[in-house]
Amino acid sequence: MEDLSRRRMLALSALGSVAVAGAANAATFGNPDEPAQGAVNSTPGAISEPGPQNPALAAQLPSFQNPPATDVGNMPMMWSSFNIVPKRIQAGGWARQVTATEFPASKAVSGVNMRLGPGGVREMHWHLAAEWAIMTNGRCRITMLDQQGRPYVQDVGEGDLWFFPAGCPHSLQGLGPEGAEFVLVFDNAFQSEFNTLLLTDWIAHTPPDILAKNFGVPVDTFKNIPLHDLWIFQGKEPPPLAADQAAVASGGTPREPFTFSLTGTRPVKETAYGRVQLADSHNFKVSTTIAAAIETIKPGGLRQMHWHPNADEWQYWIKGQGRMTVFNAGPRAQTINFRAGDLGVVPKSQGHYIENTGAEDVQVLVVFKAPEYQEIDLSDWLTHAPPELVAQHLNIDPATLARFPKGQLGIQPG
Ligand code: MN
Ligand code: MN
Repeated sequence: MEDLSRRRMLALSALGSVAVAGAANAATFGNPDEPAQGAVNSTPGAISEPGPQNPALAAQLPSFQNPPATDVGNMPMMWSSFNIVPKRIQAGGWARQVTATEFPASKAVSGVNMRLGPGGVREMHWHLAAEWAIMTNGRCRITMLDQQGRPYVQDVGEGDLWFFPAGCPHSLQGLGPEGAEFVLVFDNAFQSEFNTLLLTDWIAHTPPDILAKNFGVPVDTFKNIPLHDLWIFQGKEPPPLAADQAAVASGGTPREPFTFSLTGTRPVKETAYGRVQLADSHNFKVSTTIAAAIETIKPGGLRQMHWHPNADEWQYWIKGQGRMTVFNAGPRAQTINFRAGDLGVVPKSQGHYIENTGAEDVQVLVVFKAPEYQEIDLSDWLTHAPPELVAQHLNIDPATLARFPKGQLGIQPG
C-alpha cells in the first residue's frame, strides 16, 4: 500500500508539475535520485529474479538483494567474511586469512582468524608487519623479544589484546582446557600469515658448520632438526606462567606491557543502548600503529552517524547481526548486512552508521591503522554549528535542531 502511494507520488512529480518546495520534497522523500532508485520505484515484473539463485548466500545479504531507495552509485565491495576463505588446518590448530588479495577494499590492514587447541603452538616466527590481536575465546600464552632484546611472556584471555612491533619475534600457544581463538590484524594489507619468517626454516637452511659456530656447540647438535617447517603443531602444555617468566627473566623487562584488556577498560562512550571501549597508543602504549575499539550495540540501538578523519575503519563482527550504510562523495551510498564472523571496511572520512537488526547485542571490533582513535559525530557537528546556518541547510526549525543529541554519545535508541 505504502509502496503504491509512493510510486503514485513519484509518477505525479515526474509529470513535470512545478510543485511548491514542500510538495516536491514530500514526493522524493527517501527517494532522492533521478531516475529514482530502489524496488519501491519499480514493478514486480521488473524486479523479479527468474535466473539461478543461491538462496543461502543471498539471505545473508538482504540489502544487496534489495537496497534501500536511498542507496546510489557504485562503491567498492566493503563486505567480506572469514567464512568465505579456506582454512589451513594442521595438528594443533588452524588459521584462515583475509588480506588485500581476498578483500581489495582493505587497503591498510589484513586479518587472520586462528585457533590453537590446548597445547597447540604457532611456531616461533617474525614478519615485516606489526601484529595486533584480540582474543575471542579461551586462553593463550604469548612470548616475544622486543627491539631492545627484552623478553615478554604473558597469558591472555577473552577480550585481551597483544601487540608485537614489526620484526619482533614471537610465539603463541593455546592453553588448556579450551585452547584459544583470536583474530590477528597486521598493519600491512598484504601481510600473509602463511608466509612468515620461521625459526625452523632458517635453521634448516643454514649450513650445519655455521650453526655449530653460531651457537658454540658440536655440529651433531642439529642432526634431528625438522627439515620442513612446523607453522602450527601440537605441543606440550606449557608450565605455569611464573615458571616461563622466570626462565627468561635474565633478559630484563620491557617498560610497557605488550598486552592489554580491551573489554576491561572503562567505556569512552556509554548510553542505555550500548558502549564503546577503546585501545590506542594513549592507553595501550606499545600499540603505536593500530588503534581499536569494541562497539557494543544493544537490540534497538543505533551506532550514530559518524566518520573517522584519520584512517580507514576495518571491522570484525564478533556477535549479533546488523546493517551499515556507507556514504561517500558523488553521491554514493551502499547498505550492507553483517553477521558474526563477517568483515567490513569503511574508507577514511566516509560517513556510516550501524543499526542492530537482531534480537541480541551486536559487538563489532573496529580497527584503524593509526596511533590514535579519531571520530567526527554528525549530530555533534550539527549541534555545534550556528543553528540558523544549519536550519537553512536542512529546512528544519532551530527549535527542533536543539533536540538533536549533543556530544559524542556513540549509541542512540533506534
Ligand atoms: Mn606473527
Ligand atoms: Mn566508525
